Amino acid sequence: MRKVTSAEVYEYMTEEEILGNKKYNTDLFHKKPPSSESRQSAVKFMRVRKRLRRGQPTEGPTRSRLEQRQRQMLSQKRNSGRKQGLEVTLAFEDMVWPTNCPCCGSILDYFQCQTRHGAQFDRIISSDHYTLQNTQILCFRCNKHKADMTPEEAKRLADFMN
Ligand SMILES: [Zn+2]
Repeated sequence: MRKVTSAEVYEYMTEEEILGNKKYNTDLFHKKPPSSESRQSAVKFMRVRKRLRRGQPTEGPTRSRLEQRQRQMLSQKRNSGRKQGLEVTLAFEDMVWPTNCPCCGSILDYFQCQTRHGAQFDRIISSDHYTLQNTQILCFRCNKHKADMTPEEAKRLADFMN
């Protein structure tokens, strides 16, 4: 039997065949992207291999649009935090991503974060870093009003308004 090249593995085999064949899986894991192939095909090869390693389906989107957006927000926060000298030690999986603002209850908009109820990262103690314990998601409006107040100061203001 002729030896099948890695390029042919994903070109001619179905997803089930790739996943079901341990030998091909192992081959794919250890093989370098085919250098003689076109760039497009090498990119495809690497994507399939990466997904196989993670146990994800080899085709179709693995993440929802919302998850993609939330991950993007987190990485943007990591970059902007670094510029401000703030540590961002949050992992996507550990975070709570509410559908509604925990303060006012309005539906959070994760796609337009600068709008009235856009989702925003808030540091509970605003002088502290973006750690899991110190970060929550609030809507733009609530976050703006809270500004740099500590929970005690915010409570004092709310009591005063009453
Ligand atoms: Zn709110």
